[in-house]
Amino acid sequence: MVNLSELQPLFPHPVDNLLRSLEQNRIQQAYLFHGPHLSDNTTLALTYSASLLCDSPSQGNHCGACQNCQLLLGHKHPDFFHILPNEKGTITIDMVRTHMQKLFLSSAQAKRKVFLLEGADTMNASAQNAILKALEEPPANTHFLLSIKQPRRLLITVRSRCQSIHVNASRATELKEWCTKQNLDEEVRSFIATLSANHIEQAEHLKEQGIESIFQQLKECLQPKDKNIFHTIADLATSRESFVLCLSLLEVMVRDEVARRFGAKQDALYTESTLIDCNLEISSLQNLIAALQKLRAYKNIALNRPMALESVLLDLSAAQSL
Ligand SMILES: [Zn+2]
Repeated sequence: MVNLSELQPLFPHPVDNLLRSLEQNRIQQAYLFHGPHLSDNTTLALTYSASLLCDSPSQGNHCGACQNCQLLLGHKHPDFFHILPNEKGTITIDMVRTHMQKLFLSSAQAKRKVFLLEGADTMNASAQNAILKALEEPPANTHFLLSIKQPRRLLITVRSRCQSIHVNASRATELKEWCTKQNLDEEVRSFIATLSANHIEQAEHLKEQGIESIFQQLKECLQPKDKNIFHTIADLATSRESFVLCLSLLEVMVRDEVARRFGAKQDALYTESTLIDCNLEISSLQNLIAALQKLRAYKNIALNRPMALESVLLDLSAAQSL
């Protein structure tokens, strides 16, 4: 079982919050773990439970070795109650009542008791009211973790008793996973990440626009003395969409080349690949960026797109062949 710190890269904001509360011993008695993926919410709630129950946590993380950790890992911890919806997909009032009877028993093993309600939004109003009493006056060292997709399905009275933990995965990580699922070429990924600012919807749009093939065509144009360059340019300039996308891709490439010339380290660059190994002066490259930006701004007015692209690409291509 992973610890909280290991989940930090995926859920930076909520994990930082939880670790801080553990280290400063400002632990609340009720939490609402909510976000678009129930499994993510539950994973985080479960990992937090381990930190709460562990005998010797280190900087907020459970140790994995003490008796409490072992019992939890073996699904046998007597002070940990994992409540899941029944086969009909609901947590019923009877289920809640049965568990609330255990509320005032002193903890058997750990210094705390933890109730994890997975899919707490499947409780109807009476079931929620049955738990409300416990949330209002929880016995000492007892914690409720509600894992839920739609907080709005909870009564306001229940919600207001819980500290909200918004389980939002890091956008960069989400986009990386999306790119892997789409089987996208490594080189194209960094351009998609840059142009979409890690927004998946925008990335989907770029894919629909054909960013992969446009990128390949641009690369061909940038080969020294590419004989087909005029054909390719005409093709790239056919639609306004692909024309604008070309300008954006070129801008990222040229910008990275300028940054490289200034000695920028890899992490300050948008892309990993060196596309332009050209002999243009920095000032010429900067002029190119300005020209690309101008063309993009003019995209809506009548413009000979192939000629506009030619002027930029021929400059770059010629600079490479020297
Ligand atoms: Zn432990």
